[in-house]
Amino acid sequence: MSESTYDLLVIGGGPGGYVCAIRAAQLGLKVACVEKRDGLGGTCLNIGCIPSKALLQASEKYEEAQHQLADFGVKTGKVSLDLKTMMAHKDSTVEANVKGVEFLFKKNKIDWLKGEGRIVGVGEVSVGDKVYKAKNIVIATGSTHTDLPGITVDEQQVVSSTGALELPKVPKQLVVIGGGVIGLELGSVWQRLGAEVTVVEFLDRLVPTSDGELSKAFLRILKKQGMKFKLKTKVTGAKVAKSGVTLTVEPAAGGAAEEIKADVVLVSIGRRAYTDNLGLDKVGVEVSERGLVKTDAQFRTNVAGIYAIGDVITGPMLAHKAEEEGVALAEQLAGKVGHVNYETVPSIVYTWPELASVGRTEEELKAAGLAYKIGKFNFSANGRARAMLATEGFVKILADANSDRILGAHIIGPEAGNLLHEVVVAMEFGGSAEDLARSFHGHPTLNEVVKEAALAVDKRAIHA
Ligand code: FAD
Ligand code: NAD
Repeated sequence: MSESTYDLLVIGGGPGGYVCAIRAAQLGLKVACVEKRDGLGGTCLNIGCIPSKALLQASEKYEEAQHQLADFGVKTGKVSLDLKTMMAHKDSTVEANVKGVEFLFKKNKIDWLKGEGRIVGVGEVSVGDKVYKAKNIVIATGSTHTDLPGITVDEQQVVSSTGALELPKVPKQLVVIGGGVIGLELGSVWQRLGAEVTVVEFLDRLVPTSDGELSKAFLRILKKQGMKFKLKTKVTGAKVAKSGVTLTVEPAAGGAAEEIKADVVLVSIGRRAYTDNLGLDKVGVEVSERGLVKTDAQFRTNVAGIYAIGDVITGPMLAHKAEEEGVALAEQLAGKVGHVNYETVPSIVYTWPELASVGRTEEELKAAGLAYKIGKFNFSANGRARAMLATEGFVKILADANSDRILGAHIIGPEAGNLLHEVVVAMEFGGSAEDLARSFHGHPTLNEVVKEAALAVDKRAIHA
């Protein structure tokens, strides 16, 4: 047994953990990060955000080449799919990002302790046969997919998102269980590449946390693209054979069962906090009924010197949320004030069109009994969107009826994820719809739709 002492030892090298480690090192702390994967970057860089976006981007190009370029007057020959090259693009994108984090660790003199970390005592973490001492320990062990009882993920025919990122060929029939973010993003990838996609969703709507009006529009648009949906439906069984998977589904409220067949089934019904083999019970760190590590607003667990951030604690399971928590915690540990504003966490579904939101939905405002005004504007009335042949969707801004302060913004349309950020910044500054409406917006840009929606809050959109 050998020993080393750190100011901070982070367990998990995902966006929460690696960002926390870098910020702490910038502030002069002696830092190590334990990561058991072969590369740093966690779920996000290795099997999440980055590979999924590489495939979304690539499959969008394929779709465009097949169905849209001709409308711009660009003639192509017969378009065909080279899945191997597409996957190689995804893999090299992942590798470049993962190596980038390794470089940042070296640059900031952070020790990467390779292997599985286990908390063996307060201020003590074992990795392999070594025990490291640290003044502070941060649990940033992230999340993993949730299993559906009775349906075993084999990552071949029944896959989680990880398997869905590396299917060796395009399935004829893909059934997606769960109409949330993963299901719709990866369902879109394989549909664009030629699969027939059916989404089975337990609730009566897609992306349940989104604004109801946008969720409805999203369903309509995805149906038009050919995606099939079985809403208010539950999967009650699965038979896996070489020839394919047979799922038994029933109406959620009860009723006659039916069977649907698939070559591949994607199970995407949410993710669970990952704390397996971490030794939490040994040191007495409390977890919730759902397995999330319990923390206070300063990310402290109930055990002194042990903190937690990212997917493993409460809140949206998003990379940028984990990152901001990592920064705030590192700053606190270095004696500064670190803070995360949970009112402005953006949430984006990177399908076509994209769905992007920040702040409260209309349903949430109603439930809270807050008086609000709505401003909406369609992409179809925007010159740049017309030039892009991307006129589907709208921007919806919700502002306080009395103060005009922006309470939420919801966008479905081209580049919605990029467009959302001017509202995120405005909200961070406590901005009003009037502030957005009076700010310059370059012409011709898609951002003008955001400006017009802000003007529409006060019923004075110019181009409506
Ligand atoms: P993670 O990224 O899960 O990292 C935790 C790390 O800890 C892992 O690398 C794991 O190997 C390591 N670890 C666990 N236990 C131990 C241990 N005992 N010892 C050593 N190492 C350990 N979010 C977005 O914001 N945008 C997106 O576009 C997006 N797309 C996604 C697509 C998919 C398919 C998936 C699955 C997720 C996506 N997410 C996205 C969510 C995002 O990946 C997570 O919110 C984010 O990675 C959480 O960061 P984290 O640091 O908390 O945990
Ligand atoms: P999710 O929570 O987004 O969606 C899960 C869906 O499955 C929900 O609509 C839910 O109603 C449904 N569901 C649950 N149980 C079901 C059942 N038994 N049968 C049918 N439907 C069922 O979860 P996800 O899509 O698995 O994604 C997990 C997490 O990863 C999310 O929290 C998300 O934040 C994160 N993620 C984010 C991005 C992004 O930011 N673009 C992309 C991928 C994943």
